[in-house]
Amino acid sequence: MLFSDIIIGPIKSRRLGRSLGVNLLHQTAKICSFDCIYCECGLNFRADSHQPSRDEVQRAVEQKMVELTEKGEGIDVITFAGNGEPTTHRDFPAIIDDIVALRDRYFPEARISVLSNATMIWKQEVRDALAKVDNNIQKLDSAIDETVKVINQPQGRYSVAKVIEDMRRFEGEVIVQTLFLRGEVNGVRVDNTTEEEVSAWIEALKVIQPKEVMLYSLDRKTPYDTLYKVEGDELQVIADRVEALGIKTQVTK
Ligand code: SF4
Repeated sequence: MLFSDIIIGPIKSRRLGRSLGVNLLHQTAKICSFDCIYCECGLNFRADSHQPSRDEVQRAVEQKMVELTEKGEGIDVITFAGNGEPTTHRDFPAIIDDIVALRDRYFPEARISVLSNATMIWKQEVRDALAKVDNNIQKLDSAIDETVKVINQPQGRYSVAKVIEDMRRFEGEVIVQTLFLRGEVNGVRVDNTTEEEVSAWIEALKVIQPKEVMLYSLDRKTPYDTLYKVEGDELQVIADRVEALGIKTQVTK
């Protein structure tokens, strides 16, 4: 499922409330710095397609906000998500400034969320931009490099240790999101719920000290039909171990 526009919704998000989505990526291609085996947009593919410019994003968001205001409709959150990784957009920092200004003008109560896979947080300008949003949500599906290679399929260099260190540098102003799943892909077994996995992930959280951890599992169709959802009760058992560290959790069942 690809998002066919810059604007998504508003839709009811399971985790964030009534959300106005902003897609900074190509509208007829999915190009991401990860290629997660569970991605609801499908696996990466290139197409002759246009990536919206900063001006196009600004205009589209303002037009939608004017429309919602005229209809008397509210939003809880503006969410950067879409057909790939939003922080890879060349003008991501400037776009964040634009959207903060529009939020302040039209929906000052709304929060701004960025759903990111953490592959660009090594860049200071990306980190500075993320410091301006309310929910800086960064993906960490495993704290073991070999597992990340299978689940997230990074398209460039990726090191769990480096990502953990970069997340720690947010000094608590970060939410970690983790998708738990089991199954098999191309003959390789995958399961990030084993004791080895969960222990390593919890050790990473102790270093990162996020303000919150979001745990969830599969909800929509994935590119592989050999992947299985981890049920809410089991997610809750993992969440309880995080809560024991004094870190707030949110389990999406
Ligand atoms: S990081 Fe998000 S958009 Fe990118 S492949 Fe993974 S699930 Fe899809």
